[in-house]
Order: sequence, then structure tokens, then C-alpha cells
Amino acid sequence: MTASFDPSWRRQKSAAFDLSANSTARGTMRVNLWGQPTQIYANANFSIYSAQTCNARCRFCVEELRPASRGRALEQQRSVEADDERYFAALDASLAALRPLAPTISITGGEPSKDPRLPRILEHAARFPSKRRSLTTNASGLLDHRAGARIIDHVVAGGVEHLNISRAHPSHERNASLMVFRDGLSVAQLREVVTIARAGDCRVRLSCVLIEGAVDSLAKIVEYLDFAASLGVDNVIFRQLMHIDRDTVADNFVVRFSERKRAQLEPLLDQISESPEFAFQRQIVGYYYYVEVWRWQGIDVVFEEADLAQLERSKASMPGVVHELIFHPNARLAATWQPWDGELGPP
Ligand code: SF4
Repeated sequence: MTASFDPSWRRQKSAAFDLSANSTARGTMRVNLWGQPTQIYANANFSIYSAQTCNARCRFCVEELRPASRGRALEQQRSVEADDERYFAALDASLAALRPLAPTISITGGEPSKDPRLPRILEHAARFPSKRRSLTTNASGLLDHRAGARIIDHVVAGGVEHLNISRAHPSHERNASLMVFRDGLSVAQLREVVTIARAGDCRVRLSCVLIEGAVDSLAKIVEYLDFAASLGVDNVIFRQLMHIDRDTVADNFVVRFSERKRAQLEPLLDQISESPEFAFQRQIVGYYYYVEVWRWQGIDVVFEEADLAQLERSKASMPGVVHELIFHPNARLAATWQPWDGELGPP
């Protein structure tokens, strides 16, 4: 059933977040984490943050932007548990402790498709209850062979229901230039990946950032959707470049690019509301993000914007509540994307 549209949420965005009134779960859950009773948002996501360094260098990279927004460089916070047995014991312990929550599990990076540990990560994640499993990738390693199969076969066998592929432009060359990326799949290879995924009940979503001079208008959005349809993809997300926290930000190339090249989502949404080609589905108000879902010619079209300053404000307004769970490359579980903040375990 299509929800009714609340125009005030589009204007206020995540500032309208109210955990008990409009969040997707409407509440928290008390989970015992290694003897520590912990209040966790009931729809919290568990992210497995791959230790594999990314082979692209997007000027809009969120992995770089998150620590920069809090005044640190990514390299400063990067530490990796090199011992496989210690890494997987900690991953199992974290997933076991979160069993009552059965969180959605997202594998992300860095670049998970190039991570030698990925087949084993998928295997371990599949052993625990989860509302949904997803993997976010630039796709470059999906046709590589590892542990006796192609990575995409491991992804399907691991029960991944959503495969998010980052792609900034339909053109291979424009995409390579925007993502500063030599290893990207060709369009034919991408189509092959989509076919294999679909045959295994894994839904592919293309993820595109809204950048001035690239995909920055309704016409360009429709062009991108045509490209997605030609690949057999029925789910696309367009993201506004994230806002940073101006009080704490450490300037770097990603911050400068985001501030200069951010195409504004709100006016585009206003145009989409006027377009008879798009049908409204629903809105999601998150603790630092705002989402609208529309439908265009059989494709679910998702629009998202996020604000890292709002993230800090939301956290401060709900002390003690864990909103998300990140299993870091150092094999520690934390409540933030910074391994130095909000560490939860394992002991
Ligand atoms: S593909 Fe993702 S992780 Fe890699 S540089 Fe681009 S945004 Fe960052």
C-alpha cells in the first residue's frame, strides 16, 4: 500500500526524526552485549566494514567523508586485525551477541569484492539470523575467482538479497573519470553480473551520486534509469552528496568536492512530484538521513540525503541509544563509523 506524502518531511528532512513517532521501528530493544545491557534501535543495521582498501578514489567517497567530518583522516583511524582466526572469532561473537536483534547485515568497505576474506565473511554472516543481507561494492571484483568460484557466486550462495553497485554515470568513461577508477566492469560485464544475481534471487541496486555537471537534473536521472533498465536492474538510488559537520570538519579533497559539486536533491524532488511519470511510494525519516521512494516504469527509484552534523545532534539528543552497529577492520564492534568512538566489544 502506498503511504501518504507528508510535505513537511521533505523540507525538514532528518531534523523531523522522532524515534517513537516516525522511525521505521518506532522503538529500541534492550540487548545484553557481553554482560552490558544496551539499548539498540530495533531496526539497527550491522555493517561489516571490509578491511580491503578501495581500488577507486571517488572524490565524493563517503568512507573518507565520515572521519573527515569528525576532524580525522581515514588513514589515522585505520587499523586491521591481520589474524584471520581472531578476526572471525570476533565477528561470530558480535553476531551471536546480536542474535535477539536479528539485524540487517550490510557488507561494505573499502572494497569488499576485492577482499580475500569475503567468501568467509559471507559464510559466517549466513549462519546468523538477519532481516536482510546486503553488500555494497564498486563491482570491480565480482567476476574474480576466489575459493573455487566467482565472487558473485559466493554473494548469491551467501544469501545476499541486495547487491548495491556504485556507479556514478551510465557512460563507462565518465564513470571511470568520476570514480578515478581503472578496474570498473564494462557495461557487458555489469549486465552479466545482474543476470547471475537475478537468477539467484539477489536484487541489484545501482547507486548514483548527484553531482553538478554529471547526473544533476531530472533529464539525467531519466537517462540513468533507462541505462538501469537496459541492464535488467529494477532498483536505483540517487544520493545527494552528504553534508558534513562544519563545527568539527577537517578539510580534505572529498569535503571540498562535496561542497563544490553537490547537486541539490530537494528541487529535483519537487520536479518529480510534478511529473506524471513518477508514482510516490513512501518516505523514510532516519536519524541523519531522509529518503523518498518513487516508482518509474517498473523501477523502484530511491532518493536519499544525509547530514553528518544531524547525526551528531540526534545522538546527543538520545544518549545511550545505539543507532547502528559497525564491525570494524580491527575486529571491534562499535556504535559509530569511527573505531575510536562507541566501542561495544567483544571483550
Ligand atoms: S567506490 Fe566507494 S569506497 Fe571506493 S572510493 Fe568510491 S565511494 Fe569510496
